[in-house]
Amino acid sequence: MRRYVLFVIFIFTLLVSNSSLFIPVQAGKEVIKSKCQYPGTKGKVEQYYTGRLIDTHLHIPPPTDSGNENPVLRKDMNLDDIACTLQYEGTRSAFSFFPVYVNDADYEPFYKAADNAKKKYPKRFVRFINPPGGTSGVPTVTAKELKRFLKDRPGLFQGYGEIGLYVTPENPENVFPPDAQIFQKIYPVVRKHKMLVYFHPGEDQLDHLATALAQNPDINFVVHGEQVEKEIGTLMDSYTNIYFTVNDLYGDQYLLHQGETKESFLEKIDDYETLLAQDIATWKDVIEAHPNQFMWGTDRGGIAAWTLHKDVGLGIADYGRAFIAQLDPAVQEKFAYKNAQRLINGTILFEK
Ligand SMILES: [Zn+2]
Repeated sequence: MRRYVLFVIFIFTLLVSNSSLFIPVQAGKEVIKSKCQYPGTKGKVEQYYTGRLIDTHLHIPPPTDSGNENPVLRKDMNLDDIACTLQYEGTRSAFSFFPVYVNDADYEPFYKAADNAKKKYPKRFVRFINPPGGTSGVPTVTAKELKRFLKDRPGLFQGYGEIGLYVTPENPENVFPPDAQIFQKIYPVVRKHKMLVYFHPGEDQLDHLATALAQNPDINFVVHGEQVEKEIGTLMDSYTNIYFTVNDLYGDQYLLHQGETKESFLEKIDDYETLLAQDIATWKDVIEAHPNQFMWGTDRGGIAAWTLHKDVGLGIADYGRAFIAQLDPAVQEKFAYKNAQRLINGTILFEK
């Protein structure tokens, strides 16, 4: 009898422990899933674009701390958090710039982030290698170094950039335009690997950019930034291999930096009526005149951790959807994702 009771207790314990093992796992999965599930538009305007979105400008934080308050991967957030933000706001994929610092002897932590992205989220993160130069003022690594990076991880990267070519207080001279010697040597490497090129050009570099476009008609270039936004339409009239990310919305402003907080950002983008009127005046005509070359994007993640948070992502995407709805219906999907998808499909790593 005692044995029987013990046996029953044993079976009962097994069942309970099994089910208690089983239930939290299920609940856990559901919690994660619902945590990242798109809640729908905010209802700020009557017309929203409700289709697919691809963000064509997102910075993955480096895994090392540069001591400049910029976010650090695996300290401030990890890849799962960023993937969750994208899912939550309803963004299917993002052109994602993975930094690789040439001065760090150990590249593994840098590669690891891109490896993980490829393994866990092959569609969500469109992987760009983003290697700034090792010396102050030099915007990128040499062609030789880039070749070595790509050889180390064949098939990992679909794009090269974002490479900043604009002047900063630390780098007051504009000596590396898109047709500079350093890039003339990089283009054959990029071509061989069928990669996209992403630049942030500096002032007065339009002719240099035109030269690079003319000399490399088989390479697709994407650019953004206030330095070129006024003349970009003219360049598009002559070259089909130039694309532009529109991320300075909210009245043509860049707000995703350390000078703002999550709260101040969300407050500043709240007045849809006024901001949409400004953004339509700035962008609608030029986008509609070049429907195959403009793309939506955000430019977040590089400078402030809060820019990658879920509620901020939802705010950005919601405003983006309100803006896209104001474009000619024939252009909306192209701007929202189709132009970006076409670029992705042209890279060597196109994964269905
Ligand atoms: Zn930029």
